Amino acid sequence: MKIAVVGSGPAGIFTCLQLADFKGEVHLFEQNKQVGVKLERTGGGRMNVTNRVFSEKEFSSNQANLLKKLFKNPWVKNRFQLFEKMGIEYEWEGNRAILKSQDAVKEVARLNEMLEQQDNLRFQLNSEVIGVEKKEDQFELKFLSAGVEDIAHFDMVVLTGGGMFRIGRPSDAELIYQLPLQLGHRITGLTPSLSSLVIKQNPLRDFSGISLKAELTDLASGQKRVDDMLIAHHGFSGPLALDFSSVLSGEKVSLNFLPDVKEDVFTAEFNALRQGKHLVRGFLREYLPRRLADWHLFKAEIQDNMTIADVSKDKLKALRKSLYRLEFDHVSTLGYSACWTTRGGIDLSEVNMARLESKRHKNLYFAGEILDVNGLCGGYNISFAAISAKIVAEAVLG
Ligand SMILES: Cc1cc2nc3c(=O)[nH]c(=O)nc-3n(C[C@H](O)[C@H](O)[C@H](O)COP(=O)(O)OP(=O)(O)OC[C@H]3O[C@@H](n4cnc5c(N)ncnc54)[C@H](O)[C@@H]3O)c2cc1C
Repeated sequence: MKIAVVGSGPAGIFTCLQLADFKGEVHLFEQNKQVGVKLERTGGGRMNVTNRVFSEKEFSSNQANLLKKLFKNPWVKNRFQLFEKMGIEYEWEGNRAILKSQDAVKEVARLNEMLEQQDNLRFQLNSEVIGVEKKEDQFELKFLSAGVEDIAHFDMVVLTGGGMFRIGRPSDAELIYQLPLQLGHRITGLTPSLSSLVIKQNPLRDFSGISLKAELTDLASGQKRVDDMLIAHHGFSGPLALDFSSVLSGEKVSLNFLPDVKEDVFTAEFNALRQGKHLVRGFLREYLPRRLADWHLFKAEIQDNMTIADVSKDKLKALRKSLYRLEFDHVSTLGYSACWTTRGGIDLSEVNMARLESKRHKNLYFAGEILDVNGLCGGYNISFAAISAKIVAEAVLG
């Protein structure tokens, strides 16, 4: 028996490691010259492995019900055991599990050593799979080995080719999803995700470098996210921007600068100071970095030396709008070339959720980001790679 695993990201590496007991040959195809190139860069080289807060709510898919079904798998809850078994050590930073060594390059080298010691494993590095066909009971894989075309036959295939973002490669949907497409699978709803946000004519560009806790709302869907955000020249970056990019459905977005202070509480505190000579400037600087506070006052046409007592109802309304509902009309992501993950992927309705096996072809499996399962930032995607790899390995091993 021969099985081909196409792709050596975390999903491919973990699938191979879980197949150590497979009685046959496991061939790991990777177009790069080494395994886990992207994995080396995860978490800025520190690798967010998993998260304490972990359910289908932190993931998106065009098939929400099937996602829910998939997340009933016991390995979702028991994911820590999977990392333990592979010797992946981590420590907690809040809810996030970060690689203990904080050195993803070293960790990928360690995983590579484990693969090298696995008797049934054959590396096919520098080998890009360019075609796949079902021929009777076997799959025929066409690949370029160091640029030379070759063909091999396998009893089973696991596709773990990831999403659009590819280190050292152009982002090209045809190229990346052609294998499942050739086998008759549908690809749904591809969009860049976990990306910084670009704002056309960013009105906040002068504040680039300022970071603050904020809330973003997608005005088309009403979805909201709260977290730390960094104002950048081009728009927003940091955890909030990355997470929010996964729910961005239109171009219109609203920003709340004070997610921890309810608007009616802010208003009551403001009005409580109407007696006396309290400067608005001093009041607002208690809530926001100085320059940003002054910008909001300018927007609400509140002069520098104005006291709270002098602020009309209309001006207070304008100030509240600027602080709690600042609207941006043209917001987009940085595109596939700079996104961390791809939302969308292989349509889950054509995949058996208990085995991650194709409903179209027996012995064809999928793991990781290639599926229409997209996690937020903070260890979700690497965890899903591990969970899906385990589900596939269990199905293969019977
Ligand atoms: C900068 C950055 C930081 C990130 N940080 C984190 C983090 O800290 N925690 C987290 O959970 N997630 C993180 N992510 C997301 C995470 O890396 C991905 O979701 C995860 O790597 C997906 O794993 P995968 O194995 O499914 O796909 P990938 O990691 O994309 O691997 C796919 C592999 O398949 C190969 N391949 C594709 N097509 C072919 C073909 N036709 N023939 C041969 N080989 C092929 C590719 O070269 C690649 O090596 C980060 C992503 C980026 C870009």
